[in-house]
Amino acid sequence: MRRKEKRLLQFAGLLIAALLFLPNVGLWSLYRDRVFDNSPDTVDGPGGIPPIQGLNHMRKVAQVGPDGVRRTDWHDYAAMRRDATRIGNGEQGKPFPLTETDQVDQAYRENGFNIYVSDRISLNRSLPDIRHEKCKQKLYAEKLPNTSIIIPFHNEGWSSLLRTVHSVLNRSPPQLIAEVILVDDFSDKDHLKVALEEYMTRMPKVRILRTKKREGLIRTRLLGAAAAKGEVITFLDSHCEANINWLPPLLDRIAQNRKTIVCPMIDVIDHDNFGYDTQAGDAMRGAFDWEMYYKRIPIPPEMQRDNPSEPFESPVMAGGLFAVDRKWFWELGGYDTGLEIWGGEQYEISFKVWMCGGRMEDIPCSRVGHIYRKYVPYKVPGGISLAKNLKRVAEVWMDEYGEYVYQRRPEYRHLSAGDMTLQKELRNRLNCKSFKWFMSEVAWDLPKHYPPVEPPAAAWGEIRNMGSGMCMEIKHFVSGSPIRLENCVKGRGEVGWSHGQDKSLYHPVSNSCIDSSPSERRVFMNSCDPSSLSQQWLFERTNATVLEHFNRGTN
Ligand code: UDP
Ligand code: MN
Repeated sequence: MRRKEKRLLQFAGLLIAALLFLPNVGLWSLYRDRVFDNSPDTVDGPGGIPPIQGLNHMRKVAQVGPDGVRRTDWHDYAAMRRDATRIGNGEQGKPFPLTETDQVDQAYRENGFNIYVSDRISLNRSLPDIRHEKCKQKLYAEKLPNTSIIIPFHNEGWSSLLRTVHSVLNRSPPQLIAEVILVDDFSDKDHLKVALEEYMTRMPKVRILRTKKREGLIRTRLLGAAAAKGEVITFLDSHCEANINWLPPLLDRIAQNRKTIVCPMIDVIDHDNFGYDTQAGDAMRGAFDWEMYYKRIPIPPEMQRDNPSEPFESPVMAGGLFAVDRKWFWELGGYDTGLEIWGGEQYEISFKVWMCGGRMEDIPCSRVGHIYRKYVPYKVPGGISLAKNLKRVAEVWMDEYGEYVYQRRPEYRHLSAGDMTLQKELRNRLNCKSFKWFMSEVAWDLPKHYPPVEPPAAAWGEIRNMGSGMCMEIKHFVSGSPIRLENCVKGRGEVGWSHGQDKSLYHPVSNSCIDSSPSERRVFMNSCDPSSLSQQWLFERTNATVLEHFNRGTN
């Protein structure tokens, strides 16, 4: 009898403990829900929960497509209805009404955006559903790969960092999130130490890693990627908000082709008032000018997109927000670890994936907000890292097009960018295509907006023999025509030969180049082919100072 009583007591004790502490059933979970939500409590609208505009099917549906793939509606309608009823500061992505005192310098100093405003908005705030109408009806594969979410941070604000994590967990199907990895890039702010660790003990999917020294965002992302266990890795900045159903449209494209890197539409969270809106012009193609500034250019009419909710090809990504098959990311060599602190990495990964057998897309039905800063709040040690990063990218990936960059940024020309052997080896090993291919097949609309200017020739005019006083000439252009000595024609020199930066010897009258056949030991004229080594001629000596002056336009 006594033994039975003891058993009963033990059992009751266990039950109470379970009620208190078990995740999702225990009282603890009630407490957790309360403390996670630092906003005024959600309030039902008049007459209960209102219907959500544009969303007519409230039940999950599934269909089998002609490809045999079962597709389902991934929306979380219960969560969407809850969100739709929220009112309070910044809810529905509305701007926070700012007073003058809110806009003091101090509010921006640490983060480059107004942290006071951020602190007064719920970590679970609701966002407006600004997706294209067609996105609301879309189905995605029932079986999708799961993902590790990697969020690097350096001295990020508490509320902006946590709102990123909350928005991801609130708006993603739990079974698709393998883990959330927060990677601290050697922050020195107190709130990012023990307080963050304690907070995250309530979120079993969140892991915190820390770098041992300041690594910069590129190596910090790599550290997260190396630790990731998900089938896909998804990178986000530490001040983002994931919008409704953002994840399935990304994973669905990777499920269809694992070599596709996908980017969400990046919306703007205002750095003053935290209002949520699209970028100017919304969907655009990622591009760059020849100073290597990132640019957005309109989607060209030639791409004939009759459905704006469909994914479209993107030549270069903005940078911080994308998803990639984990194994494919490593097959591509991850990022070049020689890239320092910030910048250039978005070009490296974009050129690489396109040139080495993959592709990249922007996904209009996936939207994530990002706080674009007013200014960069953190110190960049060394200072010149961006120049060095861009030079590495130009040297490894841009072939003869690097010359256009050096034209605009002559200071890059002789800058030492460190050892690039590994990157060049990777490019060979993966049998990657040329940058010329990238420009003509992927970024073909870019030169209309940012035309590359032909580099000036290193030498030009007639080529006169000092002994005979005669000139190198071709009579008429026929492919294979030999080069002969002729009497120099006065004036012809102006349109005579030019020795370009691509090392060709070009004859503009015939629009042809001097080619060579080593087996026949002869030189002859041929159509120009900048990739053909038999058309490249090296002068034993050139006058670097004269050329440099010429390139700077100070000649
Ligand atoms: N970051 C980092 N280490 C750095 C600089 C930035 O980990 O040295 C993080 C930063 O917290 C953010 C991401 O990298 O999550 C991208 O940086 P940032 O947001 O400053 O770039 P931006 O969006 O302004 O281009
Ligand atoms: Mn950012």
